[in-house]
Amino acid sequence: MNEVYISLGSNMGDKEETLRHAVQLLQRHEAVEVIKLSSIYETDPVGFTDQDVFLNMVVLVNTTLTAQEILEVCQEIEQELKRIRIIRWGPRTMDLDILLYNHDNIETETLIVPHARMHERAFVLVPLVEIAPELKHPLTNEALLTMLAQVGKEGVIQWKTIAGVSEFVHSES
Ligand code: ATP
Ligand code: MG
Ligand code: MG
Repeated sequence: MNEVYISLGSNMGDKEETLRHAVQLLQRHEAVEVIKLSSIYETDPVGFTDQDVFLNMVVLVNTTLTAQEILEVCQEIEQELKRIRIIRWGPRTMDLDILLYNHDNIETETLIVPHARMHERAFVLVPLVEIAPELKHPLTNEALLTMLAQVGKEGVIQWKTIAGVSEFVHSES
């Protein structure tokens, strides 16, 4: 079984509902089991800053799928949730990025794991450290907690805690 950490982000429409829907679609996949959810964080946009705040979270899933296959699942979910995006790093209904796939280092045309920019993003590191404080970055072997201490938590506010996977998937906002 493979342990995969996935980052979810939304800054258009009903963001919490979109996050819930994305987690439901992951959970519904026969080869994927959602194990842990971070809290939901409200985060300031990074890169293209003239846009609405994001809601972000990180999930841990167990899966028999390869990294390439789970990427395809993530892209199908983005499609299903009608991701619209015109500007790079601009507004989007849903972005799913693979942060970690076991302790693997992967570099193909379509997939870089660990995610190439995770170490510099508070909106990724804060929720990731919440559910996996013991992890180290597979490439540098640096503790994620150390990376987070360097980046800081500015612009990332805990917005809602989650009681559990099934509570979240079955609740309405
Ligand atoms: P960023 O990667 O900086 O967060 P983004 O999420 O907005 O930017 P996308 O448009 O979602 O970028 O993805 C662009 C491409 O990145 C995808 O087509 C995919 O092939 C590639 N990619 C490479 N590594 C990953 C990864 N770890 N997770 C998801 N997509 C990845
Ligand atoms: Mg992204
Ligand atoms: Mg992406």
